[in-house]
Amino acid sequence: MKVVTRFAPSPTGYIHIGNLRSAIYPYLLAKQNEEGSYILRIEDTDQARYVEGATELIEDTMKWIGLDWDEGPGKGGEHGPYFQTQRREIYIEWAKKLITKGRAYADPTPSETVAKYREEASKNKQAFLYRNYRPSETPEWELGMPLRFKADPKDRYYHDEVFGDMHMAPETQDDIILIKADGLPTYNFAHIVDDATMGITHIFRGQEYLPSMGNYLALYEALEVEAPKFVHLPHILAPSGNKKLGKRDGAKSAVDYRADGILPEAMLNFLACLGWNDGTEDEVYSKQDLIDRFSLDRIQRAGARYDEQKLVWLNGQWIRRLFAEDPKALYARTEGFWPESAADYDDDYKFKIFSIVYDRLKTFGDLKTMTPYFFEDPSVDMDMLTSNKALKKLSEQELCDLLRKATAKLGELKEWSAEMLQQTLNDLLAETEQKPATLFGLIRLSVSFAPFSPALHDTLSVLGRETTLARLNAVITCFGRD
Ligand code: GLU
Repeated sequence: MKVVTRFAPSPTGYIHIGNLRSAIYPYLLAKQNEEGSYILRIEDTDQARYVEGATELIEDTMKWIGLDWDEGPGKGGEHGPYFQTQRREIYIEWAKKLITKGRAYADPTPSETVAKYREEASKNKQAFLYRNYRPSETPEWELGMPLRFKADPKDRYYHDEVFGDMHMAPETQDDIILIKADGLPTYNFAHIVDDATMGITHIFRGQEYLPSMGNYLALYEALEVEAPKFVHLPHILAPSGNKKLGKRDGAKSAVDYRADGILPEAMLNFLACLGWNDGTEDEVYSKQDLIDRFSLDRIQRAGARYDEQKLVWLNGQWIRRLFAEDPKALYARTEGFWPESAADYDDDYKFKIFSIVYDRLKTFGDLKTMTPYFFEDPSVDMDMLTSNKALKKLSEQELCDLLRKATAKLGELKEWSAEMLQQTLNDLLAETEQKPATLFGLIRLSVSFAPFSPALHDTLSVLGRETTLARLNAVITCFGRD
């Protein structure tokens, strides 16, 4: 069976993490299928929520995370156009089919009256159903008038790939609006027409659409189209696990994670595993692994808890994996993440730095805070030295003497390489009878004044002889001792 899936976002500006997950599963399913096709469709019929530039943001984010669509904006294809606002004639044509069958009617009721009906129902503690107020006289429908579906409420049954066998009671079915007064279709109508005309075989979307399924089933029936398979995805839960993940729960948008320096490989891996697993203990999956192993029956019915720590952990795993595969290629992706002071330095130098810090990065964003001392002299901070846990056991005189010894010994080095530096530092350790935390800590802090740095011999080797000795001497001067 040919699998055709789609991602159908609305261009409202903010790409919620849950939305992006809804883009991944249909992609994986389509890619598992030899003739499978994955369509991107922009659901832009809600003009009030439309945000300029949002479509570009969606396309950009999908490309970034590696979800290349087979048909859609910028790609074309046999089922276009792919913007709902460009498909008006198609909806009208399908709406007319319903009018002809007596299953849709023009609604002349002013919106104030509809509001009154709603109030009345709420006063009587009844669920509001428009079909209880269906107008007795309806004019011939023309553009500019809302067009409503004429519901035929009854018990309806369907199977959901995640939620199982479902029943929709008659009370869930109503005279929903198909075409609004502005001439554009509602989501409720448009997606059904689009999915049918685009040959969609599986629809993936959030569980918030479950209550509307009664209406959708009625529409499939009235339009005489075969319903696709339904894959409703459970909510992503807040880290506390007791409510739906909201904007305020610390989850950023995909765009923000990208700007923070999260790798798309990690993001894809993380989101795909938010509510799906393959039954093994594995945690790191490439896109190809996901395509190979994804299956609908392993999507969890319970909501998955959003755990940002896991995303950061996966990002670290991916940094290491990609570095092992091709360090230069990974380095090339760090552009834009370096501190401003790095602008004057060439790629060779920055690559050397990257090679010694990459395994400590949580995100590329850490480059900004972890590497400035490679590009500019740090200001000497004597408090940082003297309050250090290992160093405060020594007097200032002792610290100063140690630094002098180290500076002299390093100054004699013929070859300034990581190996020679390691050898010399070990010799110094033996000579001074200090603990590594003390001696190396002192030198490390004196050249970096940073809370973390890579292995000392690597750091000094990249900084170079001149810079290292100058920084050590600057600290010696600050001690102001003979
Ligand atoms: N435009 C809808 C949304 O963004 C799509 C839902 C669907 O995939 O059918 O929520």
